[in-house]
Amino acid sequence: MSSAPEPGDGRPGAAPEAPDSPPALEIDDLHVAVGEREILHGLGLAVAPGELHVLMGPNGSGKSTLANALLANPTYTVTSGAIRLHGDDVTALSTDQRAARGMFLGFQHPEAIPGVSVLNFLRQALAVRKGIPDLSVLEVRLSVMDWTARLGMDDAFLSRYLNEGFSGGEKKRNEVLQMALMEPEVAVLDETDSGLDVDALRVVAHGVQTVRDTRPHMGILLITHYQRILDHLAPDAVHVLLDGRIVASGGVELAETLEAEGFDAFRAGAAA
Ligand code: ADP
Ligand code: MG
Repeated sequence: MSSAPEPGDGRPGAAPEAPDSPPALEIDDLHVAVGEREILHGLGLAVAPGELHVLMGPNGSGKSTLANALLANPTYTVTSGAIRLHGDDVTALSTDQRAARGMFLGFQHPEAIPGVSVLNFLRQALAVRKGIPDLSVLEVRLSVMDWTARLGMDDAFLSRYLNEGFSGGEKKRNEVLQMALMEPEVAVLDETDSGLDVDALRVVAHGVQTVRDTRPHMGILLITHYQRILDHLAPDAVHVLLDGRIVASGGVELAETLEAEGFDAFRAGAAA
């Protein structure tokens, strides 16, 4: 953990916020079902502006269900509870409406879209975020090139088709690029570190931190199975998800317990 800054206090660029400012993202007693089956049983957490929270859970614990519910994927029904952005209830809003309000979701398995170049994809996504339907290609290309340079990416990438033949690392870099361009208020990243080798992981973590540095009030919820990305990013809070419930919330020491003892440590705690 030597390269990571201390979590919490003194982080450069942390936004000064009024004590009563609402969380960037608040998930309040969220129950989510697929068909008749309830998968999330009352999940709650609040990410203050500028904070990075990590949600960790084993396979099948409901991590992607949460990401899908946040995305407003219609397969995942919110049966009760609320999702709020800066205090505004967005639970009933569509994916595009949430995006327009500054919610960004990175996908666990981004799909290849044949015939859609990275640049065109970004142009469409930016149009939704900014509410401007006719952004010029030139305008988009200029802001994209600014970010590819900052993130150390090759511009040739932009004319390739979205995710076709991309390596795991390239897909994730593309997600970080999207996140940077969308200028989100809140970013939810689902297993951004899965399937990445150590170098790619470092690049992605660095990209996330670069975006954070330019948007210090942005809240991030990083959803992951592994603690290894925490070697490069210092979270303000860690939550442990088991069987659709948060069973522990705390600081980075929770991730250390996980690394040492695995999720079983929390299973025992949940049963006690
Ligand atoms: P994780 O991302 O933590 O591995 P998931 O949210 O993918 O967990 O899955 C949690 C549970 O919900 C699993 O039992 C899974 O089978 C179920 N589930 C998730 N999505 C669907 C779906 N679209 N249809 C049916 N069951 C689902
Ligand atoms: Mg998952």
